[in-house]
Amino acid sequence: MPVVVKQAPGLDCHGICIIGDGRALIRLSSRDSETVQSDSLLEEWAHVLRSECPVKCADPHDQIFWGIMAAITKDYRGDTDEWHEVDG
Ligand SMILES: [Zn+2]
Repeated sequence: MPVVVKQAPGLDCHGICIIGDGRALIRLSSRDSETVQSDSLLEEWAHVLRSECPVKCADPHDQIFWGIMAAITKDYRGDTDEWHEVDG
């Protein structure tokens, strides 16, 4: 599904995704820091991918959503020990 990502100054939340007609628009609050926008992008991207799953659920944050979120977060961060070095 084609996805367009745009920053929006007037959002009253960190991010939203609008899905329809075989495409998606992700809007991120431009008032947020890059770190928060990155987290919001991962979440909204997970919603887009979840919408393509044939198993539907009324809860937008169901277990499948969180499984997708974990997978793309791992892809984003990479599969290295770099993120664990802070803890020793
Ligand atoms: Zn969400």
